[in-house]
Amino acid sequence: MRWDGNLRAERPTFVSHLECSATGARYPADARHGLSDSGKPLLVRYDLDAAGQKLTRESLAARPADLWRWRELLPVRRREDIISLGEAATPLVRLPAMQRELGVAALIVKDEGRLPSGSFKARGIAVAVSMAKALGVRKIVLPTNGNAGAALAAYAARAGIEALIFCPADTPEINLREMGAHGALVERIDGLIDDCGALAAEAARDAGWFDMSTLKEPYRIEGKKTMGLELAEQLGWRLPDAIFYPTGGGTGLIGERPRMIAVQAEGCAPIVDAWERGDEHARRWEDASTVAAGIRVPRAIGDFLILRAVRESGGFAIAVADEEILGARDHAAKADGLLLCPEGAATLAACARAQRQGLIRRNDRVVLFNCASGLKYPLPELA
Ligand SMILES: *Cc1c(COP(=O)(O)O)cnc(C)c1O
Repeated sequence: MRWDGNLRAERPTFVSHLECSATGARYPADARHGLSDSGKPLLVRYDLDAAGQKLTRESLAARPADLWRWRELLPVRRREDIISLGEAATPLVRLPAMQRELGVAALIVKDEGRLPSGSFKARGIAVAVSMAKALGVRKIVLPTNGNAGAALAAYAARAGIEALIFCPADTPEINLREMGAHGALVERIDGLIDDCGALAAEAARDAGWFDMSTLKEPYRIEGKKTMGLELAEQLGWRLPDAIFYPTGGGTGLIGERPRMIAVQAEGCAPIVDAWERGDEHARRWEDASTVAAGIRVPRAIGDFLILRAVRESGGFAIAVADEEILGARDHAAKADGLLLCPEGAATLAACARAQRQGLIRRNDRVVLFNCASGLKYPLPELA
């Protein structure tokens, strides 16, 4: 099949309806949605039996390896609504030196830094912007710590949709410039991402902007789930024993199967705190601070879904210090030649800590998610 085959083929979606993640109430597909009536995230449901008959391992293998090969399991109905910047399947990269050091059976990074706009936010935003276009949305608002805003700016530019982005004033400079380069309206806020979220909600309510905040619309997580599908396919449909996921809003963690390990920074660890207390919901983390901007999320609307995924998969939640994060980044860059972003480095540091604490086993096959390109972050000066 030719390189753009997935963008040209007419393929059915097997989406059946949407469902409230708290009450199970049903909502129609193919309509504009925010949160459910009870103020909780909506999840998209599919006729999986029918999809399974159409989407075989063989039919998948014959398609170009990108996000849109999963069309049957994505909500976008018409191919002309697809907004794509080339969401190629990301590679698995082994860390042989670190694997030896940690003494695990396999230590593999899924390197999401190779996606458009240099982070895995592209997956969710590509699908959500495509759905927004299909549903006639003309302007989108988003709170961000940087990468989601950069992705939205790019995809919105391509779709001819206006983008308004609220971000903390100390958002990494490169992200701000990316958003500007794509023509987005950017507002720097003296506050954290949940303060930005409140302003986005206000813009949605008062001025008709469509709110694309994490889990406040149902389609970003659908794009994000292709990460798990892709990983399963790449590993020959044999899942690893443990997945370390740097957790902010948690969209990549919900709905996974192996032991899911939520990794946070010690300076912003509301999910780890709730996990340790055995609570269903997390408390807002005050004075959140970490070098890993992508996981500086003091409060996540899907906290109960993250905690449920961790619990039901037999995983755990763990926090690491900024020094461990930067140490792990420098070590992997030197020992294995792979430059991780701080959030990705947090998963490596967490894996090392979990190993020391006996939370993972010697024969475990471990996957770490590197969610963005290491080049998007400040690097130490040349000594
Ligand atoms: C957004 C982001 C995260 C957190 O992802 P969630 O799915 O919101 O938990 C982690 N790392 C990076 C680089 C990010 O941009």
